Amino acid sequence: MSTNVKAFGTEAADADLQPMNIDRRDVTPQDVEIEILYCGVCHSDLHTARNDWGGSKYPSVPGHEIVGRVTKVGSEVTKFKAGDLAAVGCMVDSCKTCDNCKQDLEQFCLNGFTGTYNGKDKHSGGHTFGGYSEKIVVDQHFVLRVPENLDLAAVAPILCAGITTWSP
Ligand SMILES: [Zn+2]
Ligand SMILES: [Zn+2]
Repeated sequence: MSTNVKAFGTEAADADLQPMNIDRRDVTPQDVEIEILYCGVCHSDLHTARNDWGGSKYPSVPGHEIVGRVTKVGSEVTKFKAGDLAAVGCMVDSCKTCDNCKQDLEQFCLNGFTGTYNGKDKHSGGHTFGGYSEKIVVDQHFVLRVPENLDLAAVAPILCAGITTWSP
């Protein structure tokens, strides 16, 4: 089962971004559903929309600097409840069983992590859609907590541009 939500995406490398509808899965026991309030615009979004790196899948819905409010959680979710602020960066899944995942280095998952967009979606069998959309459903392991006292519009870019600067 899934929910149809509004999104902004592109149907081809040379097409403008336009309103479209995409499906978001219903929460599985480990999932968090987030109403997206802000999503930063990363240059990777543009590269993917334009297929600058090759391998872009269409329709492409970019966006991996996501902040919003939790609307629903799965039965086994312990980190979040409805109403919490939450954020999602550039990854939404990984194998969780390889040596790197076990060391919390999911970005080096030996079986390949799942990108927030243009990744292989294990649930749908298609590709993942990013944060230029009303809602997203993500495994709780890849959802981050956000304090209530922050300016949410300013939080969004931390999820990719910010961590990129901090990490080195
Ligand atoms: Zn980015
Ligand atoms: Zn792994």
